[in-house]
Amino acid sequence: MAVPVIQQVRVGAYIMGKKLRGVEKYPLVLMLEPLFRCNLACPGCGKIDYEDDILNKRLSVEECLKAVDDCGAPIVSIPGGEPLIHKEIVQIVEGIVARKKFVYLCTNALLLEKNLSKFTPTPYLTFSVHLDGMEAHHDKAVAQPGTFKRAVSAIRKAKAMGFRVNVNCTLFDQMSATEAAEFFDFCTHDLGVEGITVSPGYAYERAPDQEHFLSRKKTKQLFRDVFKHEGAKKWRFSQSTLFLDFLAGNQSYKCTPWGNPTRNIFGWQKPCYLLNEGYADTFQELMDSVEWDKYGTGNYEKCADCMVHCGYEPTAVTDTVSHPLKALKVFLNGVNTEGEMAPEINLDNQRPAEFVFEGLVKTLSQKMAEKAEGEKAA
Ligand code: SF4
Ligand code: SF4
Repeated sequence: MAVPVIQQVRVGAYIMGKKLRGVEKYPLVLMLEPLFRCNLACPGCGKIDYEDDILNKRLSVEECLKAVDDCGAPIVSIPGGEPLIHKEIVQIVEGIVARKKFVYLCTNALLLEKNLSKFTPTPYLTFSVHLDGMEAHHDKAVAQPGTFKRAVSAIRKAKAMGFRVNVNCTLFDQMSATEAAEFFDFCTHDLGVEGITVSPGYAYERAPDQEHFLSRKKTKQLFRDVFKHEGAKKWRFSQSTLFLDFLAGNQSYKCTPWGNPTRNIFGWQKPCYLLNEGYADTFQELMDSVEWDKYGTGNYEKCADCMVHCGYEPTAVTDTVSHPLKALKVFLNGVNTEGEMAPEINLDNQRPAEFVFEGLVKTLSQKMAEKAEGEKAA
């Protein structure tokens, strides 16, 4: 099953608890980035082009677990960089599992096979393996031949050892609907993974390859064409049915930018996982200091084309809990691939983009260097 029943129950109860207490803004998934260093250099990656002093920084086990406690989200996703490079990743995962939170360890799987024996299978842990399509597509997307074969071999081994495995894929516009359908068939029926997480490519402001990211209109059509394929109802996605329905243009959702807060080596990233416009020192400061209404499609130029799960899955999940019958209908009938699409958000009043990133990293690097100097002198 894509998402364990115990996880569905916990997340549903968590959302209901917040609603009953009148809490409007609460996180669903903590994006915990314990390091930026990676053993690949994908052209679509906005994370790994930092200087060495930043790539060498790690969040400690204590810092990671404090972030988990402070944030309180029921699910913790650990992207990177490549988390398996972090020497204390096993302790970090064990600490989160001990708190009965659901961990998704995102990995390109190059180091997975040799590290599997350090982990223990549990419904609380899922390896979320980055695969961007079948062999030719994937190896091109990550700019290194041989990675697909290694990742697939690691997935088969992990499954054989009793681990839950998820495939995490970004669809870029070079992939046709037929190729995407073939890939989803492969993941579901051949690899037998528990679930697939799919997101349209989105132009991270710093990703070197800006050409192939999808715009909203193209995204919706591509997902309609993909879901038209025979067998689509059998694919197992680890995302809510209503999020998939949104990707196919059937829901006019607004972004929930506080749904997936990010903690990394700099602090709590403002405002969301994709945009980087400053840092807060604490989770509470993040929630209190960001002017949330200034973000999301229709509010801000940088958000115009975004349909990514970190902003829109929390909206879909909240909608599912509020309107379970609507979600059930889509689940039973499949995603609608015909007819008018839901109205698009008007972009006339969005505020212009602000480009603050370069200055921000300079300041953060400087701060880190000063702190290190201070510690040396003490
Ligand atoms: S595997 Fe992930 S973190 Fe590493 S370079 Fe590729 S996209 Fe970036
Ligand atoms: S739409 Fe939401 S998730 Fe997407 S970049 Fe904007 S704030 Fe972030």
